[in-house]
Amino acid sequence: MSQATDTDVSEDGVIDSVSGPVVTAADLDARMNDVVYVGSEGLMGEVIEIEGNVTTIQVYEETSGVSPGEPVENTGEPLSVDLGPGMLDSIYDGVQRPLAVLEDKMGAFLDRGVDAPGIDLERTWEFEPTVAEGDEVRAGDIVGTVPETESIEHKVMVPPDYEGGEVVAADSGNFTVEETVVELDSGEEIQMHQEWPVREARPSVDKQSPTKPLVTGQRVQDGLFPLAKGGTAAIPGPFGSGKTVTQQQLAKWSDADIVVYIGCGERGNEMTEVIDDFPELEDPKTGKPLMSRTCLIANTSNMPVAARESCVYTGITIAEFYRDMGYDVALMADSTSRWAEAMREISSRLEEMPGEEGYPAYLAARLSEFYERAGLFENLNGTEGSVSVVGAVSPPGGDFSEPVTQNTLRIVKTFWALDADLAERRHFPAINWNDSYSLYKEQLDPWFRENVAQDWPEVRQWAVDVLDEESELEEIVQLVGKDALPEDQQLTLEVARYIRESFLQQNALHDVDTFCSPDKSYQILQAIKTFNDEAFEALDAGVPVDEITAIEAAPRLNRIGTTEEYESFIDEIEADMTDELRDLY
Ligand code: ADP
Repeated sequence: MSQATDTDVSEDGVIDSVSGPVVTAADLDARMNDVVYVGSEGLMGEVIEIEGNVTTIQVYEETSGVSPGEPVENTGEPLSVDLGPGMLDSIYDGVQRPLAVLEDKMGAFLDRGVDAPGIDLERTWEFEPTVAEGDEVRAGDIVGTVPETESIEHKVMVPPDYEGGEVVAADSGNFTVEETVVELDSGEEIQMHQEWPVREARPSVDKQSPTKPLVTGQRVQDGLFPLAKGGTAAIPGPFGSGKTVTQQQLAKWSDADIVVYIGCGERGNEMTEVIDDFPELEDPKTGKPLMSRTCLIANTSNMPVAARESCVYTGITIAEFYRDMGYDVALMADSTSRWAEAMREISSRLEEMPGEEGYPAYLAARLSEFYERAGLFENLNGTEGSVSVVGAVSPPGGDFSEPVTQNTLRIVKTFWALDADLAERRHFPAINWNDSYSLYKEQLDPWFRENVAQDWPEVRQWAVDVLDEESELEEIVQLVGKDALPEDQQLTLEVARYIRESFLQQNALHDVDTFCSPDKSYQILQAIKTFNDEAFEALDAGVPVDEITAIEAAPRLNRIGTTEEYESFIDEIEADMTDELRDLY
């Protein structure tokens, strides 16, 4: 740790028992959540229970071969991450050991007991102070900047637990993260890195109610089920439903400054895909590698289960650190179900009283503590930053009634319900518009009114109503067939079809359609509404529905998404549809 702690480093203890990732030790003078080194190999672990003389430890590495009688050494410090420049463009394991460095050290199969710092201690960074001698700084204040990657300027901050004072020295130049870059009259010295215990949220002045959307560039998400910057969302991932594509689209296109992606407990090959794919991806906005604004945390299903438990904390702490700099961070955790399974496994080793389906009774509390760390914050230094959290859930057999999904749905305010049936019908993104929801709609409306269109909420509501009506009519259609419906209802079905095909569907693999600005989303809906309004006028004037739905211009609505010059294209379609329909009466 960079900050000195005033606790004594305690006496060594002795291993008493070993049960998978859970080890008990006797005679260890430790506090809850202290990091310890277990056995002669020095495997990293964390104290999770203390009862009398018996300390229970979860170990972040494979424990085979570890036996009673071996020593346990306490560091006297909580599990912390090292925060500083170099985290972007990095791939870490669940306890922030850089995977690339570890692999270089020992090949793809990671040895145990190997430690590697989260931040490269030898690399130098170009530090430029933003304070000068005589300036007063307080905890959290920004004292300088470092060009961390091609896209992101890293802000060096006074650690939150510092007192602060007057700057007595601040030099520009090239430094390692351990060298002092700013000195205060209080005697405190500021380096470019700082440690923070992962299980504790970084402090802020205030958590505010989010008012801006995290624009994803995906019509169904931005249009119908928006996520706020600083909001929480859940996304279930039945196999083949497009979970990977959806998450990559978010990582690529959302207007977050920084992306933290936690691959938690997924199969090794899926994570390898992410690790191989992400570094290849380009940030479409800057043309630079996407990894320049991304930090990946990987804990695959074959990696130790306790490190899976910790990986979400490591991730969210890194996200909070960039939030403190004033950035908007999007964090994706895939999958929180695997995380909960890790909790369940450790809990059962501890022989705790099981709750629903064997999950520990504190499952709901842990989930909500995690999502609570999302938000729009006023930081200690006065900047505003946000952490948006998107958690994937992978309920076994797609059964949403199981405890992890249920507890998650009680917490998150946006739900993007990926649906295997829609995916099978090649309706992408396969987000089910009947099951999904966003509780941010109303609070984001002012932003959409101001930045996209005054009547955005009304137009959205119109589309929702049409889709609702379609769902109701669908049941009748299945019984008696479409032709048995009255003409106005047949027309509604036609309008709903355009909403589904031109608006809800979006091809992530098409160069143009992959991203849709909120303005374009709005224009598409407006164009469909023009069809709706003109078509119903024609129907009222006595034109048969078959003639209305046969007009030539309307099917062009489905091509707006893939058209770059959409404004002139839409003008043309609207004019042609109106002409054709009015010619019918
Ligand atoms: P999962 O991760 O849920 O198993 P994927 O994300 O790999 O599924 O998606 C499976 C396939 O579905 C993709 O290879 C792609 O062909 C198609 N797909 C998913 N989402 C989209 C989308 N938004 N646009 C176009 N195709 C998509």
